[in-house]
Amino acid sequence: MEEAKFIFMDGNFVEWKDAKIHVLSHVVQYGSGVFEGIRTYETKNGPAIFRAYDHYKRLKESMKTYRMEISQTIEELISITKEIILKNELKSAYIRPVVYRGYGAISPNPLGAPVHITIAAFPLPTLFEESASKGINIMVSSWRKFAPDTIPSLAKANGNYLNSGLAIIEAKENSFDEAVMLDFFGFVAEGPGENIFLVKDRILYTPSITSSILKGITRDSVIKIASSLGIRIVEERIPRDLLYAADELFFCGTAAEITPIASVDRIPVGNGEIGEITKRISEEFKEITTGAKDPFNWLEYVEFAGM
Ligand code: PMP
Repeated sequence: MEEAKFIFMDGNFVEWKDAKIHVLSHVVQYGSGVFEGIRTYETKNGPAIFRAYDHYKRLKESMKTYRMEISQTIEELISITKEIILKNELKSAYIRPVVYRGYGAISPNPLGAPVHITIAAFPLPTLFEESASKGINIMVSSWRKFAPDTIPSLAKANGNYLNSGLAIIEAKENSFDEAVMLDFFGFVAEGPGENIFLVKDRILYTPSITSSILKGITRDSVIKIASSLGIRIVEERIPRDLLYAADELFFCGTAAEITPIASVDRIPVGNGEIGEITKRISEEFKEITTGAKDPFNWLEYVEFAGM
C-alpha cells in the first residue's frame, strides 16, 4: 500500500510509522472493531469527500449495535477527516476510520475493553483498475454470507471480513477476479466488499437488505442515480440463476466504484459487452465524483476545514 504521513488516533495526529496498538488489544484477539471506507475525489475545487455524512452515520449505527461510544459527533468526524486529508496533502484519498476495542480485557466480553478511534487517509486506486473496462470475471462462492441471526450484516464490523476473505481466496485460487456470495437461504447476497446489481429486461434489480448484505452507500447512490434517469428499480430476493440470465451485471462499492461484470462461473453476461444501463449509471456516477455536477449534494469539499 502507498503510505501517507499522519494518522489520527484518539485526538492526536501521529506519524504513519507510530500509529500502533498493543498486541493484546481486544480487536486483535476478537475482531471487535467497526469501520468505514470512504473516498475523497479530486475535483477542480480541490478534494471532495463522497457522502461523508452518510458514511459516518453508518459508522455510528455499527457502533450502536456493538455498544461502542466515542466522544466525537458526525460533524466532528468530518472535520477531522478534512484535516487528515490536508495534513497528508492528498488530492484524492481513501479514508479508513476504525472504532475498535483496545487493551484491558482478555475475554470475549467486549464491554470491559476501552473504545478507541483512528482515521487514516492514503492514496488508493480503484479496486479492479485493469479489468474494469472490459468487465471482471466472477464465481459464485461456496462460502455463504453469515445467516441473519448470527452476525449482523448491516454493521460494518472488522470480523465480518473473515467471511469475505474466504470467498476472495476461493475466487483467486480458481483464477477469478472476484466472488459473489449467496445468503443463508441460497439467494444472491453480495460480493466480499461490493453490492451487486443486475439488469433484466430494462429493470434494475439488487438484493434487498434481508439478504445479509451491507447497505452500501454506493448501492444507495446507484439507486438514486437510476431513479433520476427514469430506470425502474426492484430490491428483492434474487435467485442465483438470474445472474446467468441477466442482460447486465455490475458490482458497486467505495473501493470498486462501479465495476461491470463480464462473466459469472465462466458464463458470459448478456452479449459479453458492457451494457447500456451500466454505462449510463457509471457515467453519471463519474460526473458526480469528478465534481462536474452534484445534484444530490453528495460532495463535501475539504477546503472549508475547521469551519
Ligand atoms: N458490501 C460489503 C461487504 C462491503 O464491505 C462494502 C464496502 N464497504 C460494500 C458492500 C459496499 O458498500 P459502500 O458502497 O458503502 O462502500
